Amino acid sequence: MGTASDIKLIDENGLRIDGRSPTELRPLKIETDVLERADGSAFIEWGGNKILVAVYGPREAYPKHTQDIEKAVVKARYNMSAFSVDERKRPGPDRRSVEISKVISEALSAAVMVEQFPRAQIDVFIEVLQADAGTRIAGLTASSVALAAAGIPMRDMVVGCAAGKVDGKIVLDLGKEEDNFGQADLPMGILAKSGKIVLMQMDGDMSQEEFEQATALIMDATKRIYEIQREALAGKYRALALERSGE
Ligand code: UDP
Repeated sequence: MGTASDIKLIDENGLRIDGRSPTELRPLKIETDVLERADGSAFIEWGGNKILVAVYGPREAYPKHTQDIEKAVVKARYNMSAFSVDERKRPGPDRRSVEISKVISEALSAAVMVEQFPRAQIDVFIEVLQADAGTRIAGLTASSVALAAAGIPMRDMVVGCAAGKVDGKIVLDLGKEEDNFGQADLPMGILAKSGKIVLMQMDGDMSQEEFEQATALIMDATKRIYEIQREALAGKYRALALERSGE
């Protein structure tokens, strides 16, 4: 979160700096099967974020000491490319990407039927090509689609979404300026059908009432994002059916 500034993020009509209402998501688009060599893949464009996800596995976990005899290990690796941000990002893992990889791995593990694949590893590579705030929730949303596209059995889809506080108001899905100059950001991962929360972090401060308001906005948006995930996957299966019928 940024420091307090003179920048006005919400105008006199209650509209945000990019013209959105407080409950509006940035434009969101998901495509599957964008990479040939991955078992499953997805490309997400969410606001100015552009993120590619590749899934490999389940395959035998290696090195062997990383194996779990009862279940598969879901290993997400979040990487921000050097050219994805305004100021060149130093390549390679840093504290932030290690943390994001860990929370995304845990969120995805809750959705995948890991118990069906003892000793296996499922790799999820998240490559941020262009960053515009909310990359962890966009990466999580796309990862869930890529896992399903890989045919990996899942009990539910994970939806990522954030809400935050800007100019003292609770709004959905912070954009870059809102992230830089707002007062709080609350990214969450939710299992679409059960409503279970599998990721929750917070940057900045909110009162309990504001937190509840933010959570309600996220829960409502989850349904919309889940529909977009389902449409992306339905597109994949329509294409497969056409291929099989020889059209
Ligand atoms: N960011 C950046 N350089 C970095 C890390 C982040 O410019 O090394 C930007 C990027 O646009 C990112 C935003 O800051 O989306 C917010 O980062 P945060 O750590 O809050 O994670 P995110 O909101 O992307 O999940």
